Amino acid sequence: MDDCIFCRIAAKVIPSDIVLEDDDFVAFRDAQPKALQHVLVVPREHIASLNDLEHRPEGMGDALMRFIVKLAKELGIDESGYRALTNVGPDGGQEVQHLHFHVLGGENLGDVR
Ligand code: AMP
Repeated sequence: MDDCIFCRIAAKVIPSDIVLEDDDFVAFRDAQPKALQHVLVVPREHIASLNDLEHRPEGMGDALMRFIVKLAKELGIDESGYRALTNVGPDGGQEVQHLHFHVLGGENLGDVR
């Protein structure tokens, strides 16, 4: 989608600090990091939120989780630990309407509310 910022980042129309990418997913550093390591993982294809994953091929969610694990290894936080979360909709605090997982780590993150 032309007016979606994460589509534009994935297509490299807008510059970002890309950490890992493959044919289906791109991981780039969050512009306003909330932990020492804060990376966003997005599908290249425009998917508005996790709710829309059910309309996509069945293996996509699995591939996304595997990509996140690969990213954690790449960042060197797989053993120390990390948090992977996605915000959905208004109550979830989703600001960008393109599915993205926040991967946070590099320090003790404390409890989730
Ligand atoms: P959410 O509230 O889950 O939709 O999170 C959106 C995230 O995108 C926030 O953490 C923002 O800091 C991040 N963000 C927005 N624009 C950019 C950008 N151009 N590059 C990197 N991160 C961004």
